[in-house]
Amino acid sequence: MTLTGKMLIGQQAVTGSREAIRAVDPSTNQALDPVYPGGTLVQVEQACALAWAAFDRFRETSLEARARFLEAIAEQIEALGDTLIDRAVAESGLPRARIQGERGRTCGQLRTFARTVRAGEWLDVRVDNAQPQRQPLPRADLRQRQVPLGPVAVFGASNFPLAFSVAGGDTASALAAGCPVVVKAHGAHPGTSELVGQAVARAVQLCDLPEGVFSLLYGSGREVGIALVCDERIKAVGFTGSRSGGIALCQAAQARSEPIPVYAEMSSINPVFLFPAALGARGEALAQGFVASLNQGAGQFCTNPGLVIARQGPDLDRFIANAAQHIWQSPAQTMLTPGIYSAYRNGIETLAANPNAETAAAGKPSDGPNQCQTHLFVSTARDFLGDPSLQAEVFGASSLVVTCEDEAEIREVAEHLEGQLTATLHLDDADLDQARALLPVLERKAGRLLVNGWPTGVEVCDAMVHGGPFPATTDPRSTSVGTAAIQRFLRPVCYQDFPDSLLPTALQHGNPLHLRRLLDGQREA
Ligand code: NAP
Repeated sequence: MTLTGKMLIGQQAVTGSREAIRAVDPSTNQALDPVYPGGTLVQVEQACALAWAAFDRFRETSLEARARFLEAIAEQIEALGDTLIDRAVAESGLPRARIQGERGRTCGQLRTFARTVRAGEWLDVRVDNAQPQRQPLPRADLRQRQVPLGPVAVFGASNFPLAFSVAGGDTASALAAGCPVVVKAHGAHPGTSELVGQAVARAVQLCDLPEGVFSLLYGSGREVGIALVCDERIKAVGFTGSRSGGIALCQAAQARSEPIPVYAEMSSINPVFLFPAALGARGEALAQGFVASLNQGAGQFCTNPGLVIARQGPDLDRFIANAAQHIWQSPAQTMLTPGIYSAYRNGIETLAANPNAETAAAGKPSDGPNQCQTHLFVSTARDFLGDPSLQAEVFGASSLVVTCEDEAEIREVAEHLEGQLTATLHLDDADLDQARALLPVLERKAGRLLVNGWPTGVEVCDAMVHGGPFPATTDPRSTSVGTAAIQRFLRPVCYQDFPDSLLPTALQHGNPLHLRRLLDGQREA
């Protein structure tokens, strides 16, 4: 499989004519061929027009046909074999085993969405049969199902070149809902994006779907990205990246004559609370687990544990000393892009120069390019509460321990936090009352609450929530990981007094799809 540097507008491979992007191997700073010229505004327009033209046919595909399409994408990605793995490793600097695991997750989530589509529960069929004899007024026959919003713009993420990119979670959930997808590839991994894009396009062809179901564009976010979000045929946006990028796209979407939802997953420091009994009983193991989680993927996870909160005293001092020991032994790791490395360096230098934070440990340095040296800082709760800059996400392996005088101060720190993807509680039985008292605050702050685990590692399943209040996301009502992600791209339509022959199949009287409907107020078995 050769890389062409071309975009995919439906089934057509076309070359852009705007400023080109070129991938860089972050472990060597060597540029990788080919170059990827950016798309023009006319090409954005063509992709959106094709997506719109495909929408009505794609959204009425049978559950089986849509599920098969998702499975075909997974098969085509797997068929790329080592070509895909080699390119993704070169473009990201991530270890081979991590990329192989990410491919498994990407294909696994496509198959999970296929299962979800087949089961049909997402249609959420509700039927209120007519009551012509009802007094004082008769009731009409009312039937509701979920329909897809329309074409979705997806922005590939830098930190998951497969699982949150061209055929990642946003694309899988939008296609599962019946929405055509136009992807704006991330500039860090255009070759990986092209390979996966070709796999999706082959699946479109094999499944005999309209070509506009999928397009892939390159180019700058401010040009191609904004044009995509502002195109009137795009009806929703999925994004993972920086707070400034997510906010810019959200504002562009809100300024349209028809505003649309933007599901942007942005910034989270994922507080970890160490309760006294747990800290006293197993502080050393907690320090080891914490540093392992902090170092995973050079800390380039949205669920990286960037904040530790605990009561001051000898147990916390020992935890910090143990964590420092592990950090001093941590080798430097290659970061995803020179830009992300430079943002990390700036973040670390700003913290090191901040009089409200003290440097507790730094990992091993390295002479190589774009090397992340793990860092740990310590601050008192008073200083943390008075300095909002200490809550800013430093994307990479950096964390801050906040030392609190008492339980009341721990609560004050929790109340002071911005919205988060996760909040973690390390506790023993003797800590349960304190944890229970803190839970209402944490439920207001975060989308996922964990006990005695670490926030890195997000399971793709039905119950997962990877979301949370701003700035974790721009819309806390949903998730970007797991099967509930399909709901972001759906809306309800009610059909009143339709003859059976005019109703969508899912709503017909004989229930031909054998769905578990909410029928006159009762859930069917
Ligand atoms: P990014 O800069 O937000 O870029 C993500 C995508 O959004 C790119 O396609 C980019 O286009 C586009 N974009 C960015 N700003 C835009 C704007 N103002 N208008 C229109 N489009 C825009 O994120 P990144 O490149 O992945 O990483 C940069 C920083 O983001 C990191 O250092 C980190 O702080 C944060 N980040 C956070 C997470 C998380 O999960 N919390 C994940 C990844 C990154 P271009 O191609 O023009 O760049």
